[in-house]
Amino acid sequence: MSIANQIERLRLSLPSGVSLLAVSKFHPAEAIMEAYDAGQRAFGESRVQELQLKYEALPKDIEWHMIGHLQTNKVKYIAPFISLIESLDSERLALEVQRQAEKCNRVIDCLLEIHITDEESKSGWAWDDLLGFVRGGGFKALPNIRIRGVMGMATLTDDESVVRRDFERLAACKAELEEYFGDEFDTLSMGMSDDYPIAVEYGSTQVRVGSTIFGAREY
Ligand SMILES: *Cc1c(COP(=O)(O)O)cnc(C)c1O
Repeated sequence: MSIANQIERLRLSLPSGVSLLAVSKFHPAEAIMEAYDAGQRAFGESRVQELQLKYEALPKDIEWHMIGHLQTNKVKYIAPFISLIESLDSERLALEVQRQAEKCNRVIDCLLEIHITDEESKSGWAWDDLLGFVRGGGFKALPNIRIRGVMGMATLTDDESVVRRDFERLAACKAELEEYFGDEFDTLSMGMSDDYPIAVEYGSTQVRVGSTIFGAREY
């Protein structure tokens, strides 16, 4: 199926209120343009340099989301244009995003990436650290960051019950954090190519789909 057809099919299959982030990492500008011409505007990338090059080469009404681990020393390269940093995963990174956003005279939307699996390898805040920072008013001191919600990844497994447990956990994390943020805390970013229908069952408001749209990635 073509990229355009996949975009169309996904759009029809997602309930209203669930947006589609097309994860274009490792795929060339031409593939992104094919999705763009099918009406897609939100794209996710995981590496700063690739994101910068694509931002420069492609239409300026594209909404770029950073979904990969972000090193503090690279925030400055994306701060001028990024629409949403989905991978805000530490206090140190939050402080740097604040600093760079202020320099650009912007307020940058971010999601809190939360580590919800039992896997060591996955990134994201440990829940207790995050809750401590939030309760201590940590984000109140960062006026150029607007926290829009949470992002997370389920365990990579064929055991659907584990995936369900992970999405349930992430939805519970979001619910628990709601009281600390305003009405703009409205995003629950979960679900990828292999598990997005399950994520939607647990209240996902944004699915991040890559290989189903663009095919397998060549790393
Ligand atoms: C690569 C990636 C995706 C997309 O994965 P697919 O399995 O290709 O749909 C989604 N979210 C994050 C954080 C990713 O790194």
